[in-house]
Amino acid sequence: MNRFTILMYHMISEPKTAAEVKYACRPKQFEQHLQMLLSAGFKPVSIDAVEDYYTLQKPLPDKAFLITLDDGFEDNYSNVFPILQRYKIPAVIYLATGLLGKTNQWMNAPTFSERKMLSWTQIQDMANHGIHFGSHTVTHPKLTELDDDRVSYELADSKQIIEDRLGAECRHFAYPYGLLTEKTRALVQQAGFKTACSTRSGFNNAERDPLMLHRIEVYGDDSTWKLKQKVRFGINDASLFFPLKYYSARLLARVG
Ligand SMILES: [Zn+2]
Repeated sequence: MNRFTILMYHMISEPKTAAEVKYACRPKQFEQHLQMLLSAGFKPVSIDAVEDYYTLQKPLPDKAFLITLDDGFEDNYSNVFPILQRYKIPAVIYLATGLLGKTNQWMNAPTFSERKMLSWTQIQDMANHGIHFGSHTVTHPKLTELDDDRVSYELADSKQIIEDRLGAECRHFAYPYGLLTEKTRALVQQAGFKTACSTRSGFNNAERDPLMLHRIEVYGDDSTWKLKQKVRFGINDASLFFPLKYYSARLLARVG
């Protein structure tokens, strides 16, 4: 089957508020997700391999999956990096460059707790060990609410600083809040990005626009069976009844 799956995570640490349960996955749980994917025959690929798939038509393995982490939380270094190294799994982390070394100021307190963001030293260490980095703008704004000049600044400035700090071209982007219009997409292309992740759910294939890739959002408290169902059907919300509804709808479609 010519399709691949991109998984979206944010924080990999203990949730500290009720709202964080969706966005903060405990490290042990995250590791169990990876173990399940590997034992179910899924093959980890990098964002560069996804780019090559679109630009060079270089095939991806069957059941390919890509790990993405949005925002650049410090726990990506302390909790995620060792696990990814242990299993030799690549990943891409999308950085809001203006917030690095600071805290998650764009998230509302007290709904969300204050969290430290990655430092450049940590990012450079991970980059030296195979983790990829993409842009997630400078200030994590809603791009659809900004004028074109401001959008272009958010794209170009974050791209430039990542390139300066890591000494390599930054070709990957993720839209904050998954928000975009045709215009935003055009500006992302103009800025020189080759892939861009949205938050629309579902699988990707050769027909998908590489600047509007779909992702499956993994919630912090997803059990392994839930994740298994999500990657099987390409959905964000797993439930015990989903397969039943899915197959009976297909059966009805065939009968009707
Ligand atoms: Zn974000």
